[in-house]
This record gives sequence, C-alpha cells and structure tokens, in this order.
Amino acid sequence: MDAPHPSSHPKSQKKSRKNQNPEVNFQVALNSLSRTRDLPGAIALYEEAVGSQGVRFNQHHINALLYICSNSVADPSLKESALDYGFRVYEHMESCKVAPNEATVTAVARLAAARGDGDYAFRLVREMGERGIAPRLRTYDPALYCFCRMLEADKAYEVEEHMRRVGLSLEEPELSALLRVSAETGREERVYEYMHKLRDCVGHVSEETAKLIESWFCEEKAVDVGDENYDLSHLKDVVLRNGGGFHGLGWIGKGKWEVRRGNVNANGVCSCCGEQLACVDINDMETENFASSIAALALERETKENFSEFQDWLEKHADYEAIVDGANVGLYQQNFADGGFSVPQLDAVVKELYGRSKGKWPLVVLHNKRLKGLMQSSPHKQLLQEWVDKGVLYTTPSGSNDDWYWLYAAVRLRCLLLTNDEMRDHIFELLGSKFFSKWKERHQVRYTFVKGGPVLIMPLSFSPVIQESEKGSWHVPVKDDSNEEIVRTWVCITRPSICKSSNRVLASKKSPEGSNNFHNDHKLLNSCKPETTTKDSDTLGSIGCSQDCGNNTNTMTRKRKERSSSPSPVASSS
Ligand SMILES: [Zn+2]
Repeated sequence: MDAPHPSSHPKSQKKSRKNQNPEVNFQVALNSLSRTRDLPGAIALYEEAVGSQGVRFNQHHINALLYICSNSVADPSLKESALDYGFRVYEHMESCKVAPNEATVTAVARLAAARGDGDYAFRLVREMGERGIAPRLRTYDPALYCFCRMLEADKAYEVEEHMRRVGLSLEEPELSALLRVSAETGREERVYEYMHKLRDCVGHVSEETAKLIESWFCEEKAVDVGDENYDLSHLKDVVLRNGGGFHGLGWIGKGKWEVRRGNVNANGVCSCCGEQLACVDINDMETENFASSIAALALERETKENFSEFQDWLEKHADYEAIVDGANVGLYQQNFADGGFSVPQLDAVVKELYGRSKGKWPLVVLHNKRLKGLMQSSPHKQLLQEWVDKGVLYTTPSGSNDDWYWLYAAVRLRCLLLTNDEMRDHIFELLGSKFFSKWKERHQVRYTFVKGGPVLIMPLSFSPVIQESEKGSWHVPVKDDSNEEIVRTWVCITRPSICKSSNRVLASKKSPEGSNNFHNDHKLLNSCKPETTTKDSDTLGSIGCSQDCGNNTNTMTRKRKERSSSPSPVASSS
C-alpha cells in the first residue's frame, strides 16, 4: 500500500515538535509506527488522539492507520484487534467526512476479505468507481481472492467482469486464482477459458501455477471433459490461422490425460511427447497495424518527405529478407573516441546473411553522414560503392534518426532485423511493450564476432509460451532463473487416446517441416501456402531458423522461395 513513509530524524523531530500542530505530531508518530507495523502502538496513539479531541483526522492519518491494521490481519494474535480497529477507524473517517482514496478502499477491502466478507470488499470497489476514483488491480484483489478462497466461483467471475469493464488487465496471480476456483468447482469450460487467458497474458508460469494446472489434468473430472467428435484437419487449419500455438475450440477428445515434465530442445521438440512446438508469431493484420503505427510515429518525428520517400522506395524494393542496423554493426566493439567504424565487420555480416539466404543481399541502413565520412577516408570506398550500386545500402538523410528506417523496413517487409540494440530507447517505448517484445522475439537477430567471424544468434525456432496443439495437448513453460530456453522445464499434457489417431490424420496433411514453419514462411512470403511446400531448399519459402545444438548457436536452415517477379535491387542514396 502507498502509506506515507516520510523520513524523520528523531532530533529534528524533537526540535520542531513544539512549533507543530497536533495533526503534524500525530502524523510523525504514526509514520514511525507504520514503518515498524506496530499495531498496538498505533491503537494506543489513535485512542489518545480520539480522547484528547485535539486532532482533526485527515486522509493521510486514516490511511496510515488502515495500512497498519490491514498489514496485521495475517498475524493470528493480532487479527481480531486489527479488524476491530480497522473498521472503527473507517467509520470514524466517514463520520468526520474525510474523503477516502484508492489506498483507503484497498486497505478496507483487505480487512473485509480477512473477515471473509468478499461481498463487502467488492461493494467498496464498486462504490469508489461511482465516486469517480479509479480502482487498481490491487483494489479488486481482496474481493476476488476472497471469493476464490470461499469457492464462490460465480461471484469471482463477476469481479473479473467488473475489472474488465473498467479496463484492467488481469495478471498471473488473478488468473491463477480464477483457474483454481474453476477447477475446484468443476467448471471445465472456465478452466479452459483461464488456460487461454494465461496463455495470452503470461509467458512462463510460476511453479505454483504449474502445479495447479497439473493437478487439474490429474483430476477425475478432467477425464470426462471434451468432445469425441473432432475434426483434426479443421483444428489444424484453425491453429494455423491463429498464428500458431492454439486453436481455442475447447477440450479435444475424451479420456485420461498424461501429465509429465520435460524440456524442449533447440528445435522446439518436446522431450516427453515428441511434439513440435510452434513459433507463435504476430499475424498479418497485427503486422500491418504495427508497421502503420511505426510509420505514423516516424512521419511525426522525421522530415515527412524523407520518410515518405523511403516508404515509396521500400514498396518498390520489397524483396529483402534481412535488414541490418549498419551503425550498430560497424561500431560494435570499436573505439568510439576515435570514431571508429569497421567496414570489414559490416562486410562480414552482410556476406554471412547473403550466404545463408542463398544469394539474397540484406539491406543495410546507414546514416548518409556516416557514408560520406567513410567515402572520404576509408580504404573500403570501392566496397561501399558496390553496396550502393547493388542496393545493399540505404542511406538515411541528414537530420534523420535511422532507427525509424531500419525498424520500419524490418516490420513492413516481415524481415529479420540484425542488431544488438535492445530497442529500449524512448522511441521504442512509444510502440507498446507487449506487442513489440513479441515481434522482437521472432525477428531480431543478435550477433557477436568470434576471431573476426560473425556469429549470428537467430530467433528461437519456437515460442516459449503456453501452447495448445491441434491434438488437444498442452505445453506449459515454467518460470526459472535461467535464461537458457533449452534447460527450461515444461509441463507436457497429452491425451494418449487422441494422439494415435491424430498422427494418422495429420500425417496426410502435414507440411514437411511441421506447422510452426508456416509462420516463418508466411511472414516473409505474405501468402505462402504451407501445403505447396515440398521439400527443402529449392521450393521452401523464407529465411527460417533453427538452433544448432552442437555449437549452441542458431543457424538459418530454410530458404526463401524465389519470387518470379522480384525487382532487382537498385542504388539508393540521398
Ligand atoms: Zn510434450
């Protein structure tokens, strides 16, 4: 809670206290008790203040008192007096006509929930909304958790609905509580719904949530959920249409679930069931919107004509597979004081990308000031001129921020973006973090140099998020301290009764490299049909990626379908 904790030095307190009014003295004493969460001390102070009648209570006083009370309810020896005094203080507040704020309501709602009175806690939040005070997630939590704990599922759903209406997004603790109450009261459809809400909002789940999910699937009730009449090929189509990773059509099949824990290897294959996990990408519509919003922001901030010109140029040269943040590579591990820019380093990266995409040049975006400088002094003038001639290089005009250019190009062309820039600057903050981080996860290529040679670190070939497959199985990644995806623990939940039959059906429909590749392919090709792919390099679309376990670096393994009408790159420079 946001109780005030102003720092106060005992000596200066003593010195100034004589001149202070009773309200200030009361506040100072209260702050000190609030820091130590001293309930008996606070009660004595409050009694004294009420008795002396010299203190006119204000919102700060009340909130500090309520803070101490609501923090004491967890201690059994203090609970009763905390509740007793907490509600007395709140009544006192109302009688003094002191207006509550969000912190007040949160504290009182916590007291109500501790008393097992979720209805009261919920009413408080609704009333504050009517008074025009904006509730927060924490304001609803006491009512929500109280209903969940008391197994009053419908009331808990009502709280969730109210939260949604005021525009609050639930997080893992809230969704977990709702999943639990749904599981414990046997609401199978709700369990399904919260599995999806978790999938949508949480990457890795906590150990606690993982155990909760496991226990649901091990329950007797879970054996019966689902429909035996399912159309596997339809399910597969829906999964693809959704961008991979889920169908959302309900529990599939019947019978016992098999719940195991394992890992997912670098190629995205589950060690328990052998299923290939998907790359969950942002879909076409989202990508379009994302590109438009970058363009809109860039046009606001950059010289309009320059950026529009770039947009037009890009429409005519839309055949790139990778965009390179030229400055980021050229300045990597260089001595900034000397203004060092390594053309050979950039050259090595360009060649690496060219080789991996079987003869497609990447697009390097570089500021024209930089190019001018290099053209005057660098021994690599000829190489630079070649890049310009081949359309490998786009130079951004004077006064521009090249960040907008390379980011827009990568999003617009659904390309890989090679940069070590974490993209956390203020300009990227404008783009919204959740969506942007999902995009980066799928499109950003990081790099390093080992003995002068570039080592590209490709995006993961699968998404470490909760996944539901067309076979109705679930894979749930569990949070841990490691950032290494291949050592992460996953909960693998399958239904043996449908896995056998589904393998037969899906084999007849399967694209050669599994469903997840569709997204890599279709991103770059816009409208690639997965069924048309046959085998390997000559026909399969796009730069895709997979990890090479041997040296623990990722390598591009898939190539792009050659376009019959691809325009040849031409020079560009402003
Ligand atoms: Zn599995």
